[in-house]
Amino acid sequence: MYKPESLMMSYGYQPQWSEGAIKCPIFQTSTFVFNSAEEGKAYFELAYGLREAGVEENPGLIYSRLNNPDLEILENRLCLWDQAEDCAVFESGMSAISTALFEFLNPGEYLLYSEPVYGGTAHFIKEVLSKFGVKSIGFCPDEDPRDLEQRLEKAGVASKIGMIYIETPANPTNTLIDIEAMSLLAQKWSTPEKKVYVAVDNTYLGPLFQNPLELGADLILYSATKYIGGHSDVIAGACLGSSAAIARIKKLRTFLGNMAGPWTGWLLMRSLETLKLRMEKQAANAQKVAQYLANHSKVESISYLGLLSEKDGEQYDIYQRQCKSPGAMLSVKIKGGEEEAFAFLNALKLVKLAVSLGSTESLAQHPASMTHAGIEAEEKLRIGITPNLVRISIGVEHFEDLIHDIEQALAKVQLPEVNLI
Ligand SMILES: *Cc1c(COP(=O)(O)O)cnc(C)c1O
Repeated sequence: MYKPESLMMSYGYQPQWSEGAIKCPIFQTSTFVFNSAEEGKAYFELAYGLREAGVEENPGLIYSRLNNPDLEILENRLCLWDQAEDCAVFESGMSAISTALFEFLNPGEYLLYSEPVYGGTAHFIKEVLSKFGVKSIGFCPDEDPRDLEQRLEKAGVASKIGMIYIETPANPTNTLIDIEAMSLLAQKWSTPEKKVYVAVDNTYLGPLFQNPLELGADLILYSATKYIGGHSDVIAGACLGSSAAIARIKKLRTFLGNMAGPWTGWLLMRSLETLKLRMEKQAANAQKVAQYLANHSKVESISYLGLLSEKDGEQYDIYQRQCKSPGAMLSVKIKGGEEEAFAFLNALKLVKLAVSLGSTESLAQHPASMTHAGIEAEEKLRIGITPNLVRISIGVEHFEDLIHDIEQALAKVQLPEVNLI
């Protein structure tokens, strides 16, 4: 079997479908013509699950809210990286996440989720799910799974957990959560009547450098806007898992109508051809930039998975077990506070001052006042989102140019007087 990177240019598409075109065209169409009324009937029977598919019978194309070649081929290609049985793509990461939470949670149940999670996810959990009677309990990445289990059992909610949702590495701190340990907890809390699903937001390292299904997770979620899209020019999302789980997700997607459009599907297929090249280059660049920052006199500390070592204990063990590369996200504390962090950000030239991540160009932002502005001040400090924290997503530029840009920006930072004495 070929490796995924060898298949990204062709898998799932046959040129004879489109006049020999080597690339899959954009099927910019809302509906598909049936050859006969009988065929249309048969397609609908499968789409609505009215009967099992026959041998060699594939679901036919009906209407672009249900299926479209650009979506299906993209989904097939995404499956290869995570070795998933099936995939559903969405018009944003948030629509993939919200659809999965809606599908696998019921009123009266609790969602157990890691904190911090992406701001949009946190808002959806607290403000939207709660309106539908789904309660939530957060836990910090540094809480030991055994302590977490005891805490929930003591509080009498362990039996009401409907789903576990984790984001690892945590954004923006890079703290790791043990996916295998969380999957074991979910198994413990599952009953013959009800399975507790484990969903992992794998946007930070996936699909190349972390494969949660291998570690026992049930669902993988992506903001495909980030590494998968990779060029800061498209918003999209994906959910991967078993055929049975994704069949449920696709059914809800049909009725919410939040599938990706054909143009988005085409853009992501184009991006997938260079996914591995981009991510490997970004990780190699990040290692060099991280080493430079770790030794800089104006840097208080840096968190980068590639700098973890045995002295980091449990975090290093988790890293060894579940990550295939440190990726390209850096969390850097500049000496001083917000003023010093802002001076650094404002002085950057090649690295752009913007939220988002995983793109070909390097991006930097200030979590405390930007991506994580919605979190209460005390909570922010507790989870390590300090006023001097800057998050940098490393791109594919030449690493010497990146270091040069960061060097000149740090030179503009005036250290507070106390530090000069
Ligand atoms: C950006 C992001 C999301 C949301 O994705 P959109 O494509 O912006 O809807 C979710 N999770 C993580 C970790 C993200 O970085």
